Amino acid sequence: MSKTFIEIPRLEHVYRPIGERVNDCSEVEATLTAEEVQRLSRRCQNCGLPYCHAMGCPLQNAVPDMNRAVMHGDWRDAWERLSETSPFPEFTSRICPALCEASCCLEGEGFGATNVRQIEKKVVDTAFANGWVFPRKPLQRNGRHVAVIGGGPAGLAAAVKLNEAGCKVVIYDRNEKPGGLLRYGIPCFKLDKALIDRRWQLMEEAGIEFHGKTEVGPDVSGSFLLKHYDAIVVANGTPVPRDLKVPGRELSGIVQALELLGGQNRKNTGEAAETVVSGFGKDVLIIGGGDTGNDCAGTVIRQGANSVMSIDLMPKPPIERDVHTPWPMWPYKLRGSSSVDEGLQRFWALNTLRFIGENGHVTGVEVVPVKWEFAPNGKPSKFTVAGPSRTINCGLVVLAMGFLKRSREDVLASLGLPDQKNVLIAGDAAWGPSLVVRAIADGLKCASQLI
Ligand SMILES: Cc1cc2nc3c(=O)[nH]c(=O)nc-3n(C[C@H](O)[C@H](O)[C@H](O)COP(=O)(O)OP(=O)(O)OC[C@H]3O[C@@H](n4cnc5c(N)ncnc54)[C@H](O)[C@@H]3O)c2cc1C
Repeated sequence: MSKTFIEIPRLEHVYRPIGERVNDCSEVEATLTAEEVQRLSRRCQNCGLPYCHAMGCPLQNAVPDMNRAVMHGDWRDAWERLSETSPFPEFTSRICPALCEASCCLEGEGFGATNVRQIEKKVVDTAFANGWVFPRKPLQRNGRHVAVIGGGPAGLAAAVKLNEAGCKVVIYDRNEKPGGLLRYGIPCFKLDKALIDRRWQLMEEAGIEFHGKTEVGPDVSGSFLLKHYDAIVVANGTPVPRDLKVPGRELSGIVQALELLGGQNRKNTGEAAETVVSGFGKDVLIIGGGDTGNDCAGTVIRQGANSVMSIDLMPKPPIERDVHTPWPMWPYKLRGSSSVDEGLQRFWALNTLRFIGENGHVTGVEVVPVKWEFAPNGKPSKFTVAGPSRTINCGLVVLAMGFLKRSREDVLASLGLPDQKNVLIAGDAAWGPSLVVRAIADGLKCASQLI
């Protein structure tokens, strides 16, 4: 057994210097050299039972094969293996939490996982730089027409697979450009939107049509689609954000995360002249301590916020992996983020009682500390008040508490579609809020049911 995983340590952080990155909206991650990545690939043990491939990655990327090809400097072969299962590795290699790494055997043995995401990123960037990425055109058309509702990762993945199989695919999206949350949710400092444009162009060259600014419901009816297409893939995500209905919610200066994030992304890419929401000069309070909260923090830091703090009702996760999520499961534990390094202060186990305001605008939030009890499976089950309330002063509140999952019946009814065999639902719309890699995998799976 090779001992390279001891000689070569896992690379934990690949961020650009803070002083540099907070002054721009470019990706926070630094670019590694081919030599650095090749060195990291040598840590992979090419396990007989590759959990990364079979259990971790929803796309079932052949991770050890890709790593081995990189180790031998055969970037073209690495690309062929990666692109066999993954239609958009340029996205996942930037924003995936890397379920593959969590299930890496080296992680399980305490040596730190192979840096699969960084390797994947170098492989796909090398492929584009060398002109190895081509439109995935069908050999011949099969005469079938499929409408895809929603151009997020699930819809795009379904479209690529259906088109490759010969179907004529039209994507309808209420936004002007495709990408869904990749474009109008995830900040530019995590994913450069030029990468979505590049992929969009390849998809158009392959024959996929995109109809932007077309909302199914008001602009095109479900019955129109049923009449004109052989099948419909519904991939319209989870558009309804969770709200916080406590006294004072009507005050101005309380916004949903996507108003902030979408507005900033649109400004960065020139789709809008100004942002809808700005944290400039303000003390910003984010309610919700998850990934979306971190994205909001990084955004207001770049806008010039005075301070930024997040609070969460849930208890602080443990520093080390919780015993209830042993390897190779995705570990429940406290995670760092680029925004924490940039100045976000996080607080847990605080319940929001009310918003306080002056002249109709929010000036603070009254919170109370809570104590959680845990169920036998380790999940927080109920809380009790654990101290006196206090006020957090702020000039902007961002709600980042996730999105509501809808039932299949509700999703279809909202689009005026019947529940029948040729109408399939994919991605977040089917499973509730999840991850880009899961949405892509589900889009592909959904498409294969129609081929
Ligand atoms: C702020 C934020 C950050 C995130 N960060 C990450 C991350 O770093 N890594 C990660 O893996 N996941 C992340 N996620 C989750 C990830 O973005 C989603 O799981 C994923 O985008 C779901 O893909 P989808 O295609 O199912 O839906 P979406 O991406 O939501 O796409 C749905 C599309 O449907 C369109 N649509 C909706 N209704 C209609 C209609 N009636 N007619 C036409 N079009 C319609 C929308 O405009 C949208 O383009 C994040 C989510 C958020 C909110």
